[in-house]
Amino acid sequence: MKKLEEVFETWEAVIGLEIHAELTTLNTKMFCGCKLEFGAEPNTHTCPVCLGLPGALPVPNKAAIESIVLAGLATNCDIEKHSMFYRKNYMYPDMAKNFQTTQGPVAFCMRGHLDLDVDGPAARERYRLDDLGVGESDGNITRTEDGYVAHVGITRIHMEEDAGKMVHVGGGEGRIAGATHSLVDYNRAGTPLIELVTEPDLRTPEEARLFMQKLRQIYLAIGISDCSMEEGSLRCDGNVSLRRRGAKEFGTKTELKNMNSFKNLHDGLAYEICRQAEVLEEGGVIYQETRHWDPSAKRTIVMRVKETADDYRLFPEPDLAPYDLTDAFIERVRAKLPELPDQKARRFEEAFGLSAYDARHLVEHRETSRFFEACMEAAGGEAAKLAKPVANLIINDVTAYLNAEGVALAATPLSPARAVELVRLQASDAISSKQARQVFAAVLAEDKDPEAIVEERGMKQVSDTGAIEAVVAEVIAANPDEVARYKDGNTKVIGFFVGQCMKKMRGQGNPKVINELLARRLAE
Ligand SMILES: [Zn+2]
Repeated sequence: MKKLEEVFETWEAVIGLEIHAELTTLNTKMFCGCKLEFGAEPNTHTCPVCLGLPGALPVPNKAAIESIVLAGLATNCDIEKHSMFYRKNYMYPDMAKNFQTTQGPVAFCMRGHLDLDVDGPAARERYRLDDLGVGESDGNITRTEDGYVAHVGITRIHMEEDAGKMVHVGGGEGRIAGATHSLVDYNRAGTPLIELVTEPDLRTPEEARLFMQKLRQIYLAIGISDCSMEEGSLRCDGNVSLRRRGAKEFGTKTELKNMNSFKNLHDGLAYEICRQAEVLEEGGVIYQETRHWDPSAKRTIVMRVKETADDYRLFPEPDLAPYDLTDAFIERVRAKLPELPDQKARRFEEAFGLSAYDARHLVEHRETSRFFEACMEAAGGEAAKLAKPVANLIINDVTAYLNAEGVALAATPLSPARAVELVRLQASDAISSKQARQVFAAVLAEDKDPEAIVEERGMKQVSDTGAIEAVVAEVIAANPDEVARYKDGNTKVIGFFVGQCMKKMRGQGNPKVINELLARRLAE
């Protein structure tokens, strides 16, 4: 099979996403008063409504409607004041009602968009990006200094409910094939679920991954879901098709399931693009089907041939009146919108003079953005001066440490005050950058303040010009031959002098000051 970059020379991928989020922060289900609780004893949170018993009548959860309107406002959607619930009919044991209550052609949220900043290695997946100059646009993307911005349309966000959970017993790895029997837990049945559908505006697996990441940041910021991809409260399906570069019409798409991490989303899409290219180049046909990404085998396998909307016989739910949202309700929800990640990044740029890149990476996780703000508070009057080095410390060293150790920032001995102290020591030339890395490691390993570590280890870098001047004079006096070589034009000898000075100062001299003083003395 060809590699993705080879495939992209001939083919353009067209990707759309369908992202389901369970509204886990609510107390009760979508159409009944049953409690929402993950991991409870099976079938302890059920009632006639979520079990679909005859005569039971649903009542919409107002807090869930608030959540979806909040999601729509945060993703630049138009909020539709008049919409309805529909029945999507299907028969499967995980839904006792034999239909899922969902929305029809008009959803609560329509016509939104998100702008993605794609930079670094992620930008390299885009075919011939370098043909564009900075500021130039092509289709939905605009070239930036270090990558591009992609404008991605959101078709809609609609309200629906989750099904129950099935457990297959007796087969391999909980699969239905080979199982002797299946169990159903209806605790999850009726959990409020919102589904966001994008326009087919994405062109690379990285763009899909970044979209999902950005949406997750937004949902976490507005507090509507815990967005756990592992536990399935945030789930993503991808629609992929290929067309020849330059072609306008779409190819046949397949739907990809089981992409329950950012890596799986990227890798599953990348594989499927390469698979489709191979089929098409060998003269084969792509079937409209649902495929399952198997991360361990690194391939996609057919689950079922795609059903069409007709198969579900979608029709208006007779037990729920059409829903009317008032302006007052929408404005009340709008007033609850918190600062969103993009707004926070812009504030960091303006208030602290950070680059767009630094600001964006700081707001990627709530944990790091909160830590950065706490550092700026701890830095007091020096906030603007220390912002850039603090941001560097968080984006590089802290993030690398957290990823390697798999721990939360709050669980480490690194407090905002300690981070600021460390950065201040380096900024004032009291320690070198190499020493700063050692102190950083020691703070985490020994749970001590940076000052104390520097003191204990006698690390303090000497920047006092008087002390360094004496050493410089000594070294110059002791090496007349080298001085002569320097004066003959061999300026590389300065490295020898710096080495000698450093040796005399047991590595604690400030190299910048030593270099400056040496250059001045040797030029005399
Ligand atoms: Zn119930």
